Amino acid sequence: MNQQTMKAIVKTEPKPGLTLMDVPVPKTEPGQVKIRILKSAICGTDLHIYNWDEWSQRTIKTPQIIGHEFVGEIVELGGGVTQYNVGDLVSGEGHIVCGTCRNCMAGRLHLCKYTIGVGVNRDGCFAEYIVIPARNVVRVAEGISLDIAACFDALGNAVHTALKFDLTGEDVLITGAGPIGIMSAIICRHCGAKKIAITDINPYRLKLAKEVLPDIWAVNPNEISTSKLMHDMDIKEGFDIGLEMSGSGAAFTDMVEHMENGGKISLLGIHSGSTLINWDKVVFGGLTIQGIYGREMFDTWYKMMSMLQTGLNVEKVITHRFDYTDFEKGFAAMKSGESGKVVLNWT
Ligand code: NAD
Ligand code: ZN
Repeated sequence: MNQQTMKAIVKTEPKPGLTLMDVPVPKTEPGQVKIRILKSAICGTDLHIYNWDEWSQRTIKTPQIIGHEFVGEIVELGGGVTQYNVGDLVSGEGHIVCGTCRNCMAGRLHLCKYTIGVGVNRDGCFAEYIVIPARNVVRVAEGISLDIAACFDALGNAVHTALKFDLTGEDVLITGAGPIGIMSAIICRHCGAKKIAITDINPYRLKLAKEVLPDIWAVNPNEISTSKLMHDMDIKEGFDIGLEMSGSGAAFTDMVEHMENGGKISLLGIHSGSTLINWDKVVFGGLTIQGIYGREMFDTWYKMMSMLQTGLNVEKVITHRFDYTDFEKGFAAMKSGESGKVVLNWT
């Protein structure tokens, strides 16, 4: 590799916007691999960084290359890396863990307290090349499209959340029909859930959910109450499983109210401290509420890949594709709310 500079999408200064520019190609240190990016996908987190919201202002140190969802090809192996070959088609886990804390030592890597985020706390994948630790690399199984592999990070969130509790034969309520919510609905169907409802206040996303899975209930909670929804679905006592994927306090509060006693909620959506839920319902109804962060390393990846190889189809959730030079169009699509996953092509 003798290329010295590369194109990258960079947060150059602490203000809204991103810049496409030439930057040095990162060096491959021992234990790391260099990957040539083929495709990347835009995550809601990237949009937060683009907009320079409060969280980004607290978290991002400029200048920084952003992005953490990608598929690419290994072009260089750092010293001591023997498990991969140049030319391997790979994606990567965007959470880099310490490897030595209590949870890491116990194999619960997704719970590492010292997690560093690719494209958040260090340079990311919206670039021609990225260097990451070899232990974060994941081989793409055969038969999976590049577009889907570019979305593994988000699909992994959906897999982790949906599979947290046994949902075979269960009635599931999903709040939030963003890309992760819709992918979760597809996973629930794949894994044998009974009745599935998904809610959103955005008509585009409800329409997309219904197109992807015609046999689910996709409703706007401002138009149809959850009690009416349950009546329409012929669910008498409540939902068995809840997947909170909106980050909306109203959605979460309402979900708690409509769970079956003993119901289980996986909470992926990120909530503000002001969200209040009915604790009586949690205590006397024996609810379980499980926070979900990232993906289990690497069981989520294994199951995701296996399901994709055995009929899980999330292609329709990808609604927009652009060249990286048109990244502004990609961010505009994300901003409009009228999109599913947005994929950027780097080749
Ligand atoms: P997204 O923002 O694209 O989708 C959220 C959807 O919720 C939107 O379509 C929005 O219209 C909808 N919504 C808003 N208010 C609602 C309400 N009252 N009822 C129902 N729906 C409502 O997000 P995404 O990329 O699909 O991710 C889903 C959630 O997961 C987000 O909150 C995101 O921040 C969070 N997230 C968490 C992790 C984690 O590791 N915990 C990782 C990725 C994403
Ligand atoms: Zn750790």
